[in-house]
Amino acid sequence: MSAPVLEIKNLNVGYGLGDQGVRAVRDVNLTLHRGEVLGLAGESGSGKSTLAYGLTRLLAPPGVVTGGQVIYHPAEGEPYDVLGLSDERLRKFRWAETAIVFQGAMNSLNPVHKISVQLTDVLRAHEPKMSETSRLARAREMLKLVGIAADRMDAYPHQLSGGMRQRVMIGMALILQPQVVIMDEPTTALDVVMQRQILGQLIELRERLGFSVIFITHDLSLLVEFSDRIAIMYGGRIVEEAPAAAIYRDALHPYSKGLLGSFPALRGPRRELTGIPGSPPDLKGMPSGCSFHPRCPKAFDPCAGNIPVLGRPGTGDGRTRSVACWLHPTEEPVG
Ligand code: SF4
Repeated sequence: MSAPVLEIKNLNVGYGLGDQGVRAVRDVNLTLHRGEVLGLAGESGSGKSTLAYGLTRLLAPPGVVTGGQVIYHPAEGEPYDVLGLSDERLRKFRWAETAIVFQGAMNSLNPVHKISVQLTDVLRAHEPKMSETSRLARAREMLKLVGIAADRMDAYPHQLSGGMRQRVMIGMALILQPQVVIMDEPTTALDVVMQRQILGQLIELRERLGFSVIFITHDLSLLVEFSDRIAIMYGGRIVEEAPAAAIYRDALHPYSKGLLGSFPALRGPRRELTGIPGSPPDLKGMPSGCSFHPRCPKAFDPCAGNIPVLGRPGTGDGRTRSVACWLHPTEEPVG
C-alpha cells in the first residue's frame, strides 16, 4: 500500500454542545493513501458528509469538531494537523491541497458569469502572480481534461447540460492540482449513464494526475466499481473497512451485507433484494452497545450492552481489513 496522504485519528464531530448536542461522527480512524480512491458508504444520516466537512473544517455552526486529529502529509515537508491550522493557512490548504466537490455542485455555478471567469477566479485567488493569459490557458486545459471542448469557455452555466456543469465543477476542483479530492455524492443528480461516464473519467484523471479521492455515496454499487477500498459508516462510526473486492465478495459486518443486499448483483444469477429492516438510528437516542443491534438479524447476547471496537479480524485477508462486530472478535484495534 502506498504512503498515507491523510490520516484521520479519533475524529469526533457533533452538532451543538452540552445537553442539546448530538454526536454525528464518533471516534473515526481512517487513512487515505496516495493515489487511492477510498469510498465512504452508508445510509443518509450515517455521518459520511459530516465527516468530510469536519475534516476540511467546512462545517457550519452548530456543527463542531469536538476531538481528534486530521494529519495531512504534503508532497514536500512535514505532516501537519489540519484542525490546528490558522485561518490564513487553512485558506491556502483548501483548493491547493484538498478540494471538495459538493452534493449538487453543478447548481453552485454562478448563473451570471461565464465558465471562463469562474474557473480563472480560483487561480486569481490562489495564484495572484499568474498572468491572465496563463490563467485562461490553464482553465482551457482543465476543461479539455474533463472532456469539454475549449470553446465552451465562453458559455454561461445554463447553456451547459447537467453532466457538463458537474464536469466543470470537477475541473474547478482539480485546477490547482490538489493531492486530495473529496467528492460528496458527486453524481447523484445525474442519470446512471452520465454517472458512470463522469466517474470513469475521474478514475482516468486520477491515474494521470495522481491525486487521491474520498468518494462519498449511499450507492454501494458505484463504490464497488470505482473504489480501491471502502469504509462503511453506521451511526457515526466506521463499522467495516476493506478492499472494495473483499467487501463485495465477502462483507463481514451484517450492515455491510444489508447494503449489498439492497442492490441487484452486477454479474451472475439474479438474487432477491433483501434490504435492511427499520430505519437509521436517531442521533439523539442512539441505541446502547452496537447501534445496529435493533436492526441486526444476527444480534446476540453481547450486542445490546457493549460497543464493538473496530479492529483487524486477524485471519486470512484480515490484515487488510477491519470490522466492528461481536461476530468477528478482533485481535488488534484500529487507531
Ligand atoms: Fe449485529 Fe451484534 Fe455485529 Fe452489531 S455487533 S452488527 S448487533 S452481530
